[in-house]
Amino acid sequence: MSGRCGTIELSKRQEKILEIVKAEGPITGEQIAEKLNLTRATLRPDLAILTMAGFLDARPRVGYFYSGKSANQLLGEHVRNLYVKDYKSLPIVVKEETSVYDAICTMFLEDVGSLYVIKKEGQLSGVISRKDLLQAAMGKQDLSAVPVGVIMTRMPNIVMCRPEDTLYHAALSMMRHQVDSLPVVRPFPDRPDDFEVIGRISKTTIVKAFVELGQHIKV
Ligand code: ADP
Repeated sequence: MSGRCGTIELSKRQEKILEIVKAEGPITGEQIAEKLNLTRATLRPDLAILTMAGFLDARPRVGYFYSGKSANQLLGEHVRNLYVKDYKSLPIVVKEETSVYDAICTMFLEDVGSLYVIKKEGQLSGVISRKDLLQAAMGKQDLSAVPVGVIMTRMPNIVMCRPEDTLYHAALSMMRHQVDSLPVVRPFPDRPDDFEVIGRISKTTIVKAFVELGQHIKV
């Protein structure tokens, strides 16, 4: 995972290099080394880190430039560079005819907070959340006789995301629509209005990605 979000960890020496390049760029590695009384070889890893992290741009035979991007800008770029396809988890799917009772059992056994409901032909037809099940359980009805199809939130009101969306976009969608998870979908090749559920992004996914970023990036 670390390769995916990179590392921004600035040492005192790297800070100094940044100052020099900011003030005097374009400047060669050799010239920076001279100013710091160090050898070019000693500086090589620092210059590589600063370039890879996006603080500096390097051009052959010209030297190093300051990219002009602040640490916050770079962090934002990192965040918007994470994709749903790399973070999605397995979706837990039930059929429309599944009883509310069985859906409750599935939610417990699979340890998820939402289930996706599919029709016989496999396309997404609804979402069931914890509160939907609690609400159904508040009535006096026999939970093993009520199908989830009756209580679910149904298409076309389902907020979805695609594997190629950014994780940031998925998080924004969850926040705006005040839901805890999004099914990751792709349209069936022969039925563009029907969607196959291929994954799941939940608030837990976002928490995990956030912690992972925090572990790798010190700005
Ligand atoms: P909880 O019920 O645990 O608060 P949610 O906030 O996800 O979980 O669900 C709130 C309501 O929104 C429920 O009625 C649920 O069916 C619906 N819902 C959940 N996820 C989605 C989604 N991706 N798109 C549309 N509606 C959803």
